[in-house]
Amino acid sequence: MDCLFCKIAAGEIPSNKIYEDEQVLAFYDIDPQAPVHFLVIPKAHIPSCDALEESEDPVVSHVFTVIARLAKQLGLTGGYRIVNNCGADGGQTVQHLHFHVLGGREMGWPPF
Ligand code: IMP
Repeated sequence: MDCLFCKIAAGEIPSNKIYEDEQVLAFYDIDPQAPVHFLVIPKAHIPSCDALEESEDPVVSHVFTVIARLAKQLGLTGGYRIVNNCGADGGQTVQHLHFHVLGGREMGWPPF
């Protein structure tokens, strides 16, 4: 399958890896939008949030547990933002489910 994040998860394309286990991989975004900006992905190919099936609930839940742990490890004690861009209007550019974690500065709202 020609999927960038599947290739990163398989180690075929290098990434600046932060954490890995059987289910998920966390790595720094190549184009950071905040002092700390990393992505957490399920290793299994799920195209987007919109494509999730109930059987995949456990891996999504695990993603959030990993995010909380890594945010602590990376010193994001003042808070952080988790973003999922879903579909074209959501701004999704890589068609493999991923959660952005941004921190190290105060975030604005609303996004645009
Ligand atoms: P999206 O726009 O929500 O789909 O996010 C895709 C993200 O992947 C963007 O923030 C990109 O900067 C990031 N990205 C694209 N290619 C790579 C890569 O090879 N390594 C790390 N991050 C990447």
